[in-house]
Amino acid sequence: MSAEYRVDLDAFARNLARVREAVAPARHMLVVKDDAYSHGLEQIVRRAVAEGVTWIGAFDVETGRAVRAVAGPDVRIFVWLLGGADDLAGGIAADLDLGIGDEALLADLAAQKTPPSPARVHLKIDTGLHRNGIRPEDWSRALETLSTLVGEGKASFEGLWSHIAEASDADDDDAREIFLAARAAAVDAGLTPRFSHLAASAAGFARAPFREDLVRVGAFSYGIRPAGGPGEAELGIEPISTLVATVTAVEGDAVRLDLGSLHGLPSVLEGRFSVTTPAGPRRVLTIEPGSTLVETWSEAAPGNTVIVWGRGGVASATDLAELIDTIGEEIALRVSPLVPRRYATNGPRRAR
Ligand SMILES: *Cc1c(COP(=O)(O)O)cnc(C)c1O
Repeated sequence: MSAEYRVDLDAFARNLARVREAVAPARHMLVVKDDAYSHGLEQIVRRAVAEGVTWIGAFDVETGRAVRAVAGPDVRIFVWLLGGADDLAGGIAADLDLGIGDEALLADLAAQKTPPSPARVHLKIDTGLHRNGIRPEDWSRALETLSTLVGEGKASFEGLWSHIAEASDADDDDAREIFLAARAAAVDAGLTPRFSHLAASAAGFARAPFREDLVRVGAFSYGIRPAGGPGEAELGIEPISTLVATVTAVEGDAVRLDLGSLHGLPSVLEGRFSVTTPAGPRRVLTIEPGSTLVETWSEAAPGNTVIVWGRGGVASATDLAELIDTIGEEIALRVSPLVPRRYATNGPRRAR
């Protein structure tokens, strides 16, 4: 197939600069889970480091290791999905910052041999999402365990963190109260975290009190605006990727593109959006597993290139997402690994 997913690394660099400015004086932690939101981990991490990013949020230990291999020794890499003792040991060996959200993991850490340097622990308080995180009622016991680990040289208290829904300001405010109470309790127990972090893209941009020391930004770094929220221009970000397909045949009133639901186009969007052709926008008619039919145009011919969504097209990932009540990340993440990634750049903007 000749469809491709084009990633503009210079646009990515501009978004990084914008994020840095928006969250300052807090630091930007670039979140790269899910293969850097499907843009390709290696290229994204390499460029981010060249642009001066110093914290990367990698989700799990395997991704953390992959980031370490690309980013070198100086970048802090935060992971927050830890399955148990093996993951802990692997994370420590790869010099990762470890997000710990349950007491069983603290017990696993206590059971490890004392490492050459203390494991860098970021303790997570559950502020209401109930995904993972230590419940407020268990917090003081977890602090006692951590205090022992710190005393034994097995851990350093690097971070206090949580994750919020960013769906309503009122719920986020309640979550923040729990977060602040957890920090006060830690400080009372003689444990002061070096870094606090709570917000992701949306709250990090919109709500200064949520920025703390670090803001974990995924979506906005990749130019994915929030569904139902402010637009790219208002946020100062731009889409960095373009899903492109090629006309393989002209069939009466329609042209066939070499991209279908198996490559990542949600078939529930049939008839509901337009792609950008050499003759302007044309409606998508039918999305089949391997290919898609689109309204034709005069002089349509095999080999013509069509922008399906993204940078330079009529629809962004979030535009499509809003049609089916989801978020832009979900559209971006659907782009199949079968679609080759192509990277464009004129090189890093600044040497650091
Ligand atoms: C995905 C994720 C983020 C980034 O969220 P965005 O809305 O994409 O910025 C931050 N923190 C955690 C824990 C996450 O899982």
